[in-house]
Amino acid sequence: MSERGGSRGGNQYNDRGARGGRGGFDRGGRGGRSDGEGRGNFNRDSRGGRGGFDRGGRGGRGGQDRPRGGRGGFAQKGGNKNNVENHRFPGVFISRGNGDLLLTKNMNPGKTVYKEKLIRVDSPTGPVEYREWMPYRSKIASALVSGINVFGIQPGSFVLYLGASTGTTVSHVSDIVGPEGRVYAVEFSHRVALELVNLAKTRPNIVPIIEDARYPQKYRMFVPMVDYLFADVAQPDQARIFALNANAFLKNGGGFMISIKASCISQTEEPEAIYKQQQKELQENNFLCGEKKELEHHRGHAVIIGTYRSK
Ligand code: SAM
Repeated sequence: MSERGGSRGGNQYNDRGARGGRGGFDRGGRGGRSDGEGRGNFNRDSRGGRGGFDRGGRGGRGGQDRPRGGRGGFAQKGGNKNNVENHRFPGVFISRGNGDLLLTKNMNPGKTVYKEKLIRVDSPTGPVEYREWMPYRSKIASALVSGINVFGIQPGSFVLYLGASTGTTVSHVSDIVGPEGRVYAVEFSHRVALELVNLAKTRPNIVPIIEDARYPQKYRMFVPMVDYLFADVAQPDQARIFALNANAFLKNGGGFMISIKASCISQTEEPEAIYKQQQKELQENNFLCGEKKELEHHRGHAVIIGTYRSK
């Protein structure tokens, strides 16, 4: 595997002729970043550019067309035609083929979680299996593809995840943190939590917690201090929920990412105003907000990323 900067080919998920890079709280209006990190490429180390994984101008296929291999099975059975590379964030990978795919290394080889594509690659130590991580199905995957600059979840991390649902994204976080890490996955809907519990039976690093995240004291006996807090609860009071959980479980200096669905907070205000108001509320609760990124694959959503400084 090799780490690469910009790439050729199309973006599997995104063919939008996007506007220049957005994000960062203090951006001066529209337009791409000037530091060679326009929105888009997975691995945007060498090129500027706008939008998409790697829409290198002409020739990019983009769009929804998927490479051969179908879903929920092994791609590239005929050999190692896939070129799987390290993403710049540890524990995340990219497949370069007809279109770029975001991947994590499957902790439970041979098994899919949501009929995602599996990609098996031979290595000197034997076959390694990866799972496609679909940005349309996951806010974290979308944030990565949308070009966030910092990602604090890595192998060995202890992560508290609020709003786990059936575990689609949780399963990829489980892949990233690996056997040394843990994902404490909180979900209050019993209906979807059943799938989460079944997922945890196959992945020992997931601890499912069927509780309301508004009451962290109810699960304090299951959760140690964690390195990272993520939330995707889509609730009007999500900043308060987030602060309560950070106060209870997030280490001083720990990282965070919160997904904000603007319409959950107000149907009338502009998303940008909502993101700013959420940021303000987070800052008042000891969150140092470093970056805001609107999600290309989830309209009306943004993530705010930063570091927690408990008093
Ligand atoms: N993060 C998930 C993923 O990527 O697969 C999707 C999460 S979905 C947008 C929001 C989830 O948050 C729902 O499953 C909902 O039941 C859960 N939720 C909302 N409020 C909650 C709360 N107060 N406590 C626990 N879970 C909550």
